[in-house]
Amino acid sequence: MFEIDKEAMVHACAMPRQYGSDFLVLREGKGVYLYDANGKKYIDFGSGIAVNALGHGRKDLAKIAYTQMRKIVHTSNLYATAPALELAARLAGSGAGLGQGFAAVHFGNSGAEANEAALKYARLYAKRVKGEGNFKLLSFEHAFHGRTMGALSVTPSAAYQEPYAPLLGGIQTSAFNDAEALERTLDRTFAGLIVEVVQGEGGLMAMSAEFAAALNRLCALHDIILIADEVQTGLGRTGTLFASEAAGLKPDVITLAKPLAGGLPLSAALIPEKINAILKTGDHGTTFGGGPVTTAVAGRVWDIVSKPGFLAWVREKGEVLAEELAKIAQTHAAGACRTGEVRGKGLLRGLEIIAPEDKTADVMKTILTRAREKGLLVLRSGKNIVRIAPPLIITSKEIQAGCAILAAAIRESFSAPH
Ligand code: PLP
Repeated sequence: MFEIDKEAMVHACAMPRQYGSDFLVLREGKGVYLYDANGKKYIDFGSGIAVNALGHGRKDLAKIAYTQMRKIVHTSNLYATAPALELAARLAGSGAGLGQGFAAVHFGNSGAEANEAALKYARLYAKRVKGEGNFKLLSFEHAFHGRTMGALSVTPSAAYQEPYAPLLGGIQTSAFNDAEALERTLDRTFAGLIVEVVQGEGGLMAMSAEFAAALNRLCALHDIILIADEVQTGLGRTGTLFASEAAGLKPDVITLAKPLAGGLPLSAALIPEKINAILKTGDHGTTFGGGPVTTAVAGRVWDIVSKPGFLAWVREKGEVLAEELAKIAQTHAAGACRTGEVRGKGLLRGLEIIAPEDKTADVMKTILTRAREKGLLVLRSGKNIVRIAPPLIITSKEIQAGCAILAAAIRESFSAPH
């Protein structure tokens, strides 16, 4: 059926070719460590793309899922369950750090679905409140909002969009962190805009305070629904419950997903009263979203992540990670292949790799491969950023151990013939 080689890699299998053809086969995990099919141990600097925030192999989460599965697994949204109601109430009340509350929570199964819901709500609000014709949507250069047709339409990357064009109409793009361009672009004909506070897939650029202020002011002025895509940054990853809090952003809608249910698929769009008030029965829906198992597990994740001590831990470990990356960056600051900026916030960080244009892909691939061979799993963001998004429970020692491997992988990649 498939063959796993001595490196725990599978090279031919029935996975679609969009994912490439070579996979490391993982078997299990514990805390910040992962083990491959042959038992080799890795430090996990990726968390399954910023998902496993509380680490792997959690007995507490498994027990909650098991207990709930024995009671009831699925009801559809024709009915309610206590875990979904409790989680919705907690998330609706989670805007204290933003100085606002949310009226309701639409659950889904993925980040893209949460963003689809948010974009649909923005258009619905504009149509019903501002009138026909005010349907435009704005997103920003280097953004990533998902792969479904709507979310893809606000993800302005030629590589992702071109194969599927034409996409949704009425969508414009503006430069990220450019308040003047934003001012020139926005008017009342926009229904909504969607923005990341730290651009997770597009290079780890963080939103400036000036840009956040312009977004708040202009969206309020033109009654535009401001959607913060916190699918990657939300629930503590950047050191505050929402990254919007530290950036000074005042979103109408927040979308969440990755860490929400401890690795199970669950997403949420947190919506304000002004949107909830104009919704009619049947406007939007989902069969699986917000089921009792995922929401029961998410309740426990929420209890852990929303504790002030937990967020202080993330901030502290985020500083340790930034310092370690700065040391690597200093060591390799010169040469044809060199390191550049350390970016990001909290435990979502990036290290820029600068190489000749035609060699960048190769250099990045070598860094990631060498890291894996040495026992570290790490991510990429954009074309040339090494992205680090470990489980949020990581210790300073584990960060240092992972960074030592990363440093060696970078050194070897830079000195290898490309
Ligand atoms: N939004 C952001 C900021 C993301 O980082 C991602 C995924 O990486 C998505 C949306 C899409 O989430 P999903 O892959 O769960 O649809």
